[in-house]
Amino acid sequence: MVPDFEAKLSEYAHLLVEVGLNVQPGQTPSIESNVEYAALTRLCVSACYDCGARNVVPYYGDDFTTRESFLRADGAVFEEYPSYMKARVDWFLEQKSPRLSFTGSNPELLKGVDPARIQARRKASGPPTKPYFDALTANKFQWCVGAHPTPAWAEKVFPGRKGEDAMDALWDAIFSVCRITGDGKAVERWKAHAASVRRRVELLNGYQFASLRYANSLGTDLTVRLPDNHLWAGATDHTPAGVEFLPNIPTEEIFTAPRWDGVEGRVYAALPLAMDGNLVKDFCLDFQEGRIVDVHAGEGEEYLRRTIDTDEGAHYLGEVALVPYDSPIRNTGILFYNTLFDENASCHLAFGKAYPSCVKGGEDMSPEEQKAAGLNRSITHVDFMVGTKDLSIVGTTRDGREIPVFVDGNFAF
Ligand code: ZN
Ligand code: ZN
Repeated sequence: MVPDFEAKLSEYAHLLVEVGLNVQPGQTPSIESNVEYAALTRLCVSACYDCGARNVVPYYGDDFTTRESFLRADGAVFEEYPSYMKARVDWFLEQKSPRLSFTGSNPELLKGVDPARIQARRKASGPPTKPYFDALTANKFQWCVGAHPTPAWAEKVFPGRKGEDAMDALWDAIFSVCRITGDGKAVERWKAHAASVRRRVELLNGYQFASLRYANSLGTDLTVRLPDNHLWAGATDHTPAGVEFLPNIPTEEIFTAPRWDGVEGRVYAALPLAMDGNLVKDFCLDFQEGRIVDVHAGEGEEYLRRTIDTDEGAHYLGEVALVPYDSPIRNTGILFYNTLFDENASCHLAFGKAYPSCVKGGEDMSPEEQKAAGLNRSITHVDFMVGTKDLSIVGTTRDGREIPVFVDGNFAF
């Protein structure tokens, strides 16, 4: 049993609702949940009303029912998207309902299901829900992703531990990286954390570095040019109405996009890369004029090469993210097999797609204009960790001044 579990769960619910969603009086939040998450969901429902919600609308999925349906329903079912489901998301969009969802369901839920059914479902649900998810990506309403352990996920993170025991260990880890102690003060801690992230975002945006140079004792020596008018982002976002919210809890990173054609040198991975059940270990990438020209890996090299061959854009970087080595997530020493956590463990880079919002006006540019502005395009986006205890990053301003950004693995300012 996790000590003070009830108090911590309630603290977590308040954190997700008050800081994550920042529910405003009169709003009608939606909660995408699962029957397994009922206890946390109910606490979130109450927390929404505490914030003055007009109404709260949870939707409970069920992994068992989902799997049974994929295995046993009529095949034609997967080619249609029910109109009431579309009406539902359209209604939420109209209301600009804040959306809370959870990551954590069984990663092997659809194991053994006919891939054609999964693909058909994806194809059928894509277009009808596109306006809703486009609005979400563009922060037209508040949204937040939290986490809830399931036995399958917990047993993957803690091999050798089973069922409730593994669940307790994962809850413990989630509470700890979410700065939840049971004292009821997580909301205050996160407001302070978000403010310190924002301070660094503003400093970095003020510098408008022409390039960053990475070096450490693994052998990393990499220069990354940044686009003109790039924007660093971190922690909080705002809706058009000016409501501040925190889309990911936990979050530690501050990120922007590199110039796709402006990366030179070699970078060594600091942690293994887990993709679709494959593990790539001890690897490095060589860059010339932005393109990955060579790959070496102690393990999983073939898989890494294949991933980089996904398309031309996957040969170039699309994200530069700064995370202190001394971050709560890395300090646990746990590989979560879940991006919400793992990408906040270490400074990382990603090959593949860049976020258009990383360049001023990027969201309103055509694909060609985005590319000219330096933003990489690809169908994929793969984060890999490069932050070590001795990582140094030096920024060079457009007038040639050198400013330390990272010293010994942590922010210099
Ligand atoms: Zn990132
Ligand atoms: Zn990323």
